[in-house]
Amino acid sequence: MSPEYLYNIRTVCYVFASVTFILGLKKMSHPATARSGNLLAAAGMLCAILATIFINVHRTETGGIPEYEEREPRGFIYALIFAAILIGTIIGWVTARRVKMTKMPELVSMFNGMGGACAALIGLMEFPHHHGLTGSLTAIVLGLIIGSVSFSGSIIAFLKLNGTMRKPFRLPSYNIINTVVMVIVFGLGAYMVFGDSQNGLIYVLFALALLYGVMFVLPIGGADMPVVISLLNSFTGLAAAFGGFLYDNKVMLTGGILVGSAGTLLTIVMCRAMNRPLSNVIFGAFGGSEATGAQESEHGTIKDVNVTDVAVLLNYSKKVVIVPGYGLAVAQAQHVIHELELLLEERGVEVAYAIHPVAGRMPGHMNVLLAESNVDYSKLQEMEDINPAFEQTDVVLVVGANDVVNPAAKTDPSSPIYGMPILEVDKAKNIIVNKRTMNAGYAGIENLLFYNEKTSMFFGDAKKVLTELYDELKDMS
Ligand code: NDP
Repeated sequence: MSPEYLYNIRTVCYVFASVTFILGLKKMSHPATARSGNLLAAAGMLCAILATIFINVHRTETGGIPEYEEREPRGFIYALIFAAILIGTIIGWVTARRVKMTKMPELVSMFNGMGGACAALIGLMEFPHHHGLTGSLTAIVLGLIIGSVSFSGSIIAFLKLNGTMRKPFRLPSYNIINTVVMVIVFGLGAYMVFGDSQNGLIYVLFALALLYGVMFVLPIGGADMPVVISLLNSFTGLAAAFGGFLYDNKVMLTGGILVGSAGTLLTIVMCRAMNRPLSNVIFGAFGGSEATGAQESEHGTIKDVNVTDVAVLLNYSKKVVIVPGYGLAVAQAQHVIHELELLLEERGVEVAYAIHPVAGRMPGHMNVLLAESNVDYSKLQEMEDINPAFEQTDVVLVVGANDVVNPAAKTDPSSPIYGMPILEVDKAKNIIVNKRTMNAGYAGIENLLFYNEKTSMFFGDAKKVLTELYDELKDMS
């Protein structure tokens, strides 16, 4: 087979893979098709990887006319590639299978960090071979900077999410210091592209970019981590796209652009959901939890209810809205909540779920969780749609949610979550809150909803008390 023919086959594989990425992304926008979308995109990726490994053709210019040459396959290189793929596949497979749904954001930030590290390594390896080629050097330096920031930033995000590094850490004038470091990083990068740089400088740039990634994420409070992770995700996509430019690899370019733009869009959507301007994410820390507004003042008293009280209240309601949160996921109470919902519907009660965009610990967490227990998707109502309906709701059952129903977001300008749109459950006629203790949620702040005169606290592990509630309701005529 002629090298030109092989080159064309590889291009077709790349186009096919790019199409599967786009279709896969489209399918991932709905829970019913998300799984097949993921598999489709993975199949496209496999095709692109095999074509890259086995079709060893490269382009040469002879008198301006492109020609294609076949390279000798090298056994040792193949052995290295397949060993790396095998090790990576085993680690990825085992980790993804074992991870609990509540730990998914940590896994996403770790995988994202690995993508950034790959892009940075490409820069380190390729820089010495491209002196004097401004276009290639630009792609190398930008890929290295963005990949390194994404790598070290994702590691810090990972540590913050798993609780190792809960508190935001801020140097005095961190905003100015961060901006200065960023300017130095890009200034050095520009010198390396346009000036007469030595090979050793690439390691200095690498170290500085890593440092900037750490400084970028370190001051940001845990409550805003979702935005940071999706922003870092878009960085990794961009870094990969620069790799695509460098190698003239269309599928790397398309994949990188898709990740970059999807990450950017998700960042914007989440910023809107949390009411944070994007500039705040890029140029400064926000949402730290030390400005808690957790005053020692009197908030009144809380009302504690038992399972029979809750069962009676639900049994005589016409309309019930369930607000799931992180605690529902921790307790793995998604199945019992679905059974409770079906039982209530049998009794003629109208039931809906109110979904906050940042409930849980990852975007779409509640949708995924409830889909797992086969809750009808049409019952899941977005925040904007359900908020006006709370006034006509007899009972709101808040299960393991806290920050997303905290009225401080609307009423307390000193609160770190001030401005974040919330589920306005306080408009409902009765509010039942299930959690184990009076402890704070992710943002570490007190919730005055628990002291509202319409609120009753239903303490206990969600799975345990909802099971008791189900049994109690079942016995009621
Ligand atoms: P929160 O973290 O605010 O609150 C969860 C509540 O669940 C806690 O107060 C806890 O109280 C309770 N809980 C924990 N375990 C159980 C259990 N076994 N049974 C019953 N209750 C339990 O959750 P929300 O979903 O309201 O808010 C999400 C927060 O996470 C937001 O601040 C958001 O910004 C942040 N975040 C969101 C991400 C996303 O992408 N969705 C990613 C990262 C962070 P107690 O201990 O008393 O039981």
